[in-house]
Amino acid sequence: MQKGEMFLGWSTKEDIRKRGGSGGLVTSVLAAALDKKLVDSVVVLKKINDFEAVPVITSDVNEVLNSAGSLHSVPSNFAKLIANKNLKVALPAKGCDVRGIIEQGKRNTIKLDNTFIIGLNCGGSMHPTVTREMLEVMYKIRPEDVHGEEIEKGKLIFETKDGKEHAITIDELEEKGYGRRESCRYCTIKIPNNADLACGNWGVTGELAGKATFVEVNSEKGAELLQNAVDAGYVQIQKPDEKGIAARARIKGAMEGLSRKWKEKVFIPMDNRLEYFRKELENCIDCGACKTVCPTCSCGDVSKCTEFHYRGDAYKMSMYHLVRFLHLADSCIGCGQCTDVCPVDIPLTRLYRRFANPVQEELKYEPGMDLRRPPYFEVKLND
Ligand SMILES: Cc1cc2nc3c(=O)[nH]c(=O)nc-3n(C[C@H](O)[C@H](O)[C@H](O)COP(=O)(O)OP(=O)(O)OC[C@H]3O[C@@H](n4cnc5c(N)ncnc54)[C@H](O)[C@@H]3O)c2cc1C
Repeated sequence: MQKGEMFLGWSTKEDIRKRGGSGGLVTSVLAAALDKKLVDSVVVLKKINDFEAVPVITSDVNEVLNSAGSLHSVPSNFAKLIANKNLKVALPAKGCDVRGIIEQGKRNTIKLDNTFIIGLNCGGSMHPTVTREMLEVMYKIRPEDVHGEEIEKGKLIFETKDGKEHAITIDELEEKGYGRRESCRYCTIKIPNNADLACGNWGVTGELAGKATFVEVNSEKGAELLQNAVDAGYVQIQKPDEKGIAARARIKGAMEGLSRKWKEKVFIPMDNRLEYFRKELENCIDCGACKTVCPTCSCGDVSKCTEFHYRGDAYKMSMYHLVRFLHLADSCIGCGQCTDVCPVDIPLTRLYRRFANPVQEELKYEPGMDLRRPPYFEVKLND
């Protein structure tokens, strides 16, 4: 097995195959890595309900096996979770999680050689609160009655406990202000080739549709992970056919094209930038939550930008944000987490991207995409 190869695969354990997002391969690869001591720990989401889960770092194979399934409305921030812990770890990661992990690797808070990243294709994720409201307003179902969810052919489908399926197109949901996070709409990392493996359901056709995962091996570490799971009897794999490979490439192209259109729609040029930023930021209460969740920030608790938290100047625009705009110009990955946590609903990701888009385009640099390139600006905060 080597870098560049593609496979279709599924769990050899029947219950994991059923509970998995598409065949349970990811869960089984993670469990096998732990079982055969390729890693000491694994990160998974411990499900509370369909909208809530907590990320756990575990060395218990059963806990890993229990985590099978995709939770489209659960935010994850795995980069910060594993930073500064010196783990030999395997974990699932959407494109933005992978980018956060690689950026932390560049800042020496995560040892990338000891980190096995199983990338999940991602068409987008949803905010849990927005999803609950959407279920009641658009689907006319109670969130407590939801039993499962899936995305198929551009539709978001919820299954209720009575076995019925409720489907609405993502386009219609987004027209009405629901659906994916804004940052997911313009994100172009739909297949995470920056992870060791890229896994998803695009390209799984015919009888295997919904029952197998399409895996692309992106690195030697990825090959080691998958081979280990095959050798340990946790997964079964076969080569995909040309039709499946072509379908996957076609969907990827269409999704990336759609993202570029969203980017144009969201970031329309504006005349009075200063007034715009001042207006958007005037309600900031200087809580610092955006910095706490930011997967690329590695300044720690004591850093220069926190020195700019002054309640007085927070009235119109805190200096804190000006420092963060500069910090993130080359390193914002557009994950959307700052917007998610802002208690006064400032669309922070959109503001940060307003700065980051032109800088990253000019530098031809997308943070978290390429391991070999260091961050452009080395800011030594405590000098
Ligand atoms: C938010 C989201 C959107 C996705 N969109 C697409 C798509 O558009 N096209 C596509 O081909 N595939 C998409 N996928 C991937 C797909 O749903 C399956 O995860 C993938 O095919 C692997 O299936 P599996 O059965 O092998 O995974 P499983 O064996 O079910 O393992 C899934 C793993 O992912 C973890 N996980 C679950 N939810 C999250 C989350 N929100 N964030 C991080 N980790 C999580 C679980 O803890 C588990 O370890 C998406 C996944 C997620 C989480």
